[in-house]
Amino acid sequence: MSPMSSPIQRRTTCPVRIGPLTVGGNAPILVQSMTNTDTADIGGTVRQIIELARAGSELVRITVNHESAAQAVPIIRDTLDAQGCQVPLVGDFHFNGHRLLTDYPACAEALAKYRINPGNVGRGEKKDSQFATMIEMACRYDRPVRIGVNWGSLDPDLIVRMMDENARAAQPLTADEVMRAAMVESAISSAERAEALGLGRDHIILSCKMSGVQDLIAVYRMLAERSDYALHLGLTEAGMGSKGIVASTAALAVLLQEGIGDTIRISLTPAPGESRTREVVVAQEILQTMGLRSFAPMVTACPGCGRTTSDTFQHLAQNIQTYLREQMPQWRTQYPGVETMQVAIMGCVVNGPGESKHANIGISLPGTGERPSAPVYVDGEKVATLKGDGIAEQFKRMVDEYIESHYRAP
Ligand code: SF4
Repeated sequence: MSPMSSPIQRRTTCPVRIGPLTVGGNAPILVQSMTNTDTADIGGTVRQIIELARAGSELVRITVNHESAAQAVPIIRDTLDAQGCQVPLVGDFHFNGHRLLTDYPACAEALAKYRINPGNVGRGEKKDSQFATMIEMACRYDRPVRIGVNWGSLDPDLIVRMMDENARAAQPLTADEVMRAAMVESAISSAERAEALGLGRDHIILSCKMSGVQDLIAVYRMLAERSDYALHLGLTEAGMGSKGIVASTAALAVLLQEGIGDTIRISLTPAPGESRTREVVVAQEILQTMGLRSFAPMVTACPGCGRTTSDTFQHLAQNIQTYLREQMPQWRTQYPGVETMQVAIMGCVVNGPGESKHANIGISLPGTGERPSAPVYVDGEKVATLKGDGIAEQFKRMVDEYIESHYRAP
């Protein structure tokens, strides 16, 4: 019945302010996401940002890939503000970010953070000056940056140099080991260069995204060992459906358990027509099930078995979980603390009453052949036995009453 506690000792990192939020230090691990609209499509992008923010994305990244996108950014910011959506926006820049930030000051101003990919800032001699221009813009507008290295766009000059050095080493590393070391080197050396150019350490977040679970874990452990920069965690190109969720969870859970990570993004590929918000829900559920943060009441439900051949409890569990999550945008202020509530919905009396007693409110539906009654427990005590066809509606009313009586803001 108590809110989940976590034995995890977070790694101490340099805190970074992003608009009204803090990433790193002792701040809660933030959830972020990214739009998949064309940023130049102002209406579509605003709609998706609001949808993501309502689902719980605390930062939303948008791509700024050409002039029309850069022109749209300040209009998107103003439209969001006018609609009461204050979520900070992060601009994702590749190849031409130096030019867009310089040529479109209103875009630079409207963004709360810039993402710079050191593998994609330019080639050859231009690379250093273009990177420097982006850092100069971050200094001018007092904006933090994420130096986001990606496995798929690792600086080719760096990897060639490190492979050559490795070939001459007395005990050469494997190609995978060199690649991992190159990811870390790219992030750390770029951050050090940004600092040398005048950007404060408290304006720098690092990420090294890879698509392999073991690679990601190894690289972030190295990053955490080598520096105290705040870290953005995410498995890149995680994939679709359960594969993407499982791979992201497997990688992030290991790192989070070790105290590594200050903000997370789950890079899921939505099914055609599927809402983009799923990645936000998954990120929240990873943090909540690990006891790191609470976002919405959690429903504990048994998997069902031969003792409950009706699907009543499955429907009830699904309805209540959906209902609780959908109410959260308004409940967050109306019922502070409700996000820590635990609800149990169980298929029969074998484990039902025991699990219900551990929840704030729990119900055991009648299993096959059991009397058609459903005991309900509130704060560990049996308070009612629901009967008849309307058990689901009666239980939902009891959940509402519990929330109203236990979490109403003073
Ligand atoms: S609580 Fe009952 S229905 Fe659910 S899995 Fe256990 S025995 Fe089966």
